[in-house]
Amino acid sequence: MICKCGGLFVVKRIEEYPSELTNKEKLLYNRVCDVECVGCGEIQYSQPYDDGRTLNTVKKIKTDGC
Ligand SMILES: [Zn+2]
Repeated sequence: MICKCGGLFVVKRIEEYPSELTNKEKLLYNRVCDVECVGCGEIQYSQPYDDGRTLNTVKKIKTDGC
């Protein structure tokens, strides 16, 4: 993710898993994170953190017949 100033956003803080989650539920839980631009210091809150990681397990892709 790139800031409008051209700087790179780095992760500053990651949401902690709710303590009641089991290990299996944690795999499906999408955490959010706060990111800060290294260029101008702008902070963006609640950006998706785990989103990309779980995408492939949710998607069903047909592989036969083509
Ligand atoms: Zn910036």
